[in-house]
This record gives sequence, C-alpha cells and structure tokens, in this order.
Amino acid sequence: MHEIDEIDREDETVQDCVVVGGGPAGLTAAVYLTRYLLSITLFDDESNRCRRRAFRL
Ligand SMILES: Cc1cc2nc3c(=O)[nH]c(=O)nc-3n(C[C@H](O)[C@H](O)[C@H](O)COP(=O)(O)OP(=O)(O)OC[C@H]3O[C@@H](n4cnc5c(N)ncnc54)[C@H](O)[C@@H]3O)c2cc1C
Repeated sequence: MHEIDEIDREDETVQDCVVVGGGPAGLTAAVYLTRYLLSITLFDDESNRCRRRAFRL
C-alpha cells in the first residue's frame, strides 16, 4: 500500500489551471492562459452539438 502511494505521487502533475470545455470559450481561455505561461489541462466530453461537423474539417 505504501509503495502505491509513492508511485501515485511521482505520477502527479501539478497544473496551474483546469479548463472544462473545448468549445470556443474554453479554447480561448486555454490560449490566453498559455500566453501567460500558465500550464493547463483541458477537458472536453465531446458532447458538443457541432462535433460531427467539426470532425469533418
Ligand atoms: C447547430 C449550431 C450551429 C451554429 N452555427 C454558428 C455559426 O454559424 N456562427 C456562430 O458564430 N455561432 C454558431 N453557433 C453558436 C456557437 O456554436 C456557440 O455560440 C459557441 O459554440 C459557444 O461556445 P462555448 O465555448 O461557450 O460553448 P460550446 O461550444 O458549447 O463548448 C462547450 C464545450 O464543453 C464541453 N462540455 C460541456 N460539459 C462538459 C463537462 N461536464 N465536461 C467536459 N466537457 C464538457 C462540450 O462538449 C463542448 O465541447 C452554432 C450553434 C449550433 C448548435
């Protein structure tokens, strides 16, 4: 059990920000945050109503 805890901590990545949503608002936020050299993780659940059109491009 102790070993697993140590492995989990080694794998942790500390991010400055989390952006939820990869639509125009989320992507804009992500771009601006990275311009200020902040690290981010962006989550998107791919439930956007325009997803099919976007994937064709
Ligand atoms: C059919 C259609 C046609 C359109 N045509 C135009 C157009 O021609 N011109 C125009 O200017 N605008 C158009 N719009 C409007 C435009 O799509 C929206 O104004 C714009 O997408 C809003 O951006 P947003 O980032 O706020 O939200 P969204 O684009 O909705 O993005 C939100 C994102 O967050 C994700 N998400 C939601 N909940 C979660 C969660 N819990 N965890 C993780 N991810 C999550 C969704 O999957 C989505 O990708 C259209 C909209 C539709 C539906």
